[in-house]
Amino acid sequence: MADDCIFCKIIAGEIPSRTVYEDDNVLAFLDVNPLTKGHTLVIPKAHHQTIADLPAGLGEAVFEALYHLTPAVEQAVSADGSNIGVNNGTAAGQEVQHVHAHIVPRFEGDGGGAVHSIIRTMPELTDEEFDDIAAGIRAATD
Ligand code: 5GP
Ligand code: ZN
Repeated sequence: MADDCIFCKIIAGEIPSRTVYEDDNVLAFLDVNPLTKGHTLVIPKAHHQTIADLPAGLGEAVFEALYHLTPAVEQAVSADGSNIGVNNGTAAGQEVQHVHAHIVPRFEGDGGGAVHSIIRTMPELTDEEFDDIAAGIRAATD
């Protein structure tokens, strides 16, 4: 547990939350400032800042919870779909430094955008740049 972490305090029961799911590794609860009805946060119980910091197995546990919870959240609020996202690192807009996935239910005509709406100015890449990026990612994956 990190002393100054709001989500660790929620896990410890020091700050109340509307829990919707809990197991040994994962907790899910309603976002206090929902983007849409049913906006849910899924977090590992252990404090880690970003996805890269998660130990082996814990990322899978979070994704497994997302897998089971997403249809349940959608059904509970009669959503037509959902966006699932992680603001991974402060450069990506992460405000609470305890890794968490958002399930944001979506409704036909709700006026929201796709994941693609997070960036407005896209890079124009040459074939060589695409190739270099792909090679760099392959080299970093082991
Ligand atoms: P981030 O920008 O870090 O990805 O999102 C943090 C999320 O945590 C925000 O959507 C915010 O509304 C939510 N949040 C912050 N503090 C609390 C809290 O005390 N309780 C709950 N339930 N959600 C919180
Ligand atoms: Zn924490």
